Amino acid sequence: MHATHIHVDLEHELAALRAERDALADANVRAAELMAELAEAHALEDELRRQAEDQRVRLALAQTIAEPLSPEGLLSAALGVFAELTPAGLAGAAYLREPGAEALVRCAGDGPERLERAQPSGVIEIDGDMVTMWLCGHERCLGALRLRCPTVERDRWLRLRAALAPQLGVALDRARIARANLIITSELIQARDRAERANEAKTRFLANVSHELRTPLNAIIGYTALLDELLRESDQTEYLGEVDRIRVASDHLFGLVEELLELSQIESGRVVLRPARVELAPLFAELRVLAAPLAAARDNQLVLAVDAAPPDMIVDAQRLRQSLLNLLDNACKYTDRGQVTLRAAPDGDRVAFSVQDTGIGIAPEQQPRIFEVFVRANDPNVLRRHGSGLGLAIIHRLIGQMGGELTVSSALGKGSTFSFSLPRGGR
Ligand code: ADP
Repeated sequence: MHATHIHVDLEHELAALRAERDALADANVRAAELMAELAEAHALEDELRRQAEDQRVRLALAQTIAEPLSPEGLLSAALGVFAELTPAGLAGAAYLREPGAEALVRCAGDGPERLERAQPSGVIEIDGDMVTMWLCGHERCLGALRLRCPTVERDRWLRLRAALAPQLGVALDRARIARANLIITSELIQARDRAERANEAKTRFLANVSHELRTPLNAIIGYTALLDELLRESDQTEYLGEVDRIRVASDHLFGLVEELLELSQIESGRVVLRPARVELAPLFAELRVLAAPLAAARDNQLVLAVDAAPPDMIVDAQRLRQSLLNLLDNACKYTDRGQVTLRAAPDGDRVAFSVQDTGIGIAPEQQPRIFEVFVRANDPNVLRRHGSGLGLAIIHRLIGQMGGELTVSSALGKGSTFSFSLPRGGR
């Protein structure tokens, strides 16, 4: 009985020990599993840290590229993004190809002044502990970054820089083009300002000279009239021819001075238009009276085809009269024993005017230039007639100010038609 008892106790103890052993084995397995999970978590954390680090570099580069920097500024900022910081500062240098230069010249960082070889054999080149990141634009190598390579995680570090180098190359190309455009724009602005200043000086000169000439000319014209009167009174008619020549010449000079003054006023923007409602029939009647002697001088027939014209329009009457009279004057001057026709007709909400002649005409190659100042057709048939080459230039600008455009159509030896239209209700 006693022995049986002992046996049962031992059996129990053994079973308990076995259970404890099994539990321990299970705990061991669990511990090993937990260790493996922990190692995995550490590796994952490391990978996430690396990815976050790469992402930070990518983001910093994207922000740098987005800024409107000069090529030097861009490379200097990119150097800060890519290089490792050492206690002594940036471990690297940035180089830029100067326009026309073969070598790359240092623009930031602590490298030597020049990088003699500027022909990359790949995106990234390694020599010793230094790495060259070649930055290529659309056509050629534009710059480079020389960086000290870290000793840890070197491959990953290199891979990221090789992946981002083309992006930086394109940004560098863009920065160079933007700077070239800026230079061209500022040169153009300077050229325009110089041209404007020269034009203003010319306008001032024209205005001053015209004023200075007008006073003595007025005196000559006045004294010529007086001389003419005195000669007639004292019956010295043999000198009247000479006096008349002085009068004709000074009248011509006076007209020229007036035109110069007018041109200088138009060019300086000092011509003020005074639009008002104008009855057209009286204006045409006045033009007929003024143009009749001009037409008669060369045996031309003057025709006014203005019946279809609207009764009135809003316009600066004096400027419209001046423009049409100038065209009639030219038509009569460059036509011999022909016909000169003034036309006016409605053209939608505008009034169309034209002056047509059957005169000498204008060669096609001369036509584009006749509205320029002092330009006369290079034709002996023109040059033997009085003229300054100013009239068309003046009225071309005036008509432009009134809201029209003076154009010409002409055939050499057949005649010319000058046309323009103006808004009937004014501008
Ligand atoms: P100009 O005082 O020489 O007549 P304009 O400025 O009025 O100056 O005209 C410029 C040039 O245009 C003239 O020199 C002439 O060559 C040409 N021209 C103008 N009107 C006519 C026309 N009706 N017929 C032929 N040529 C003309």
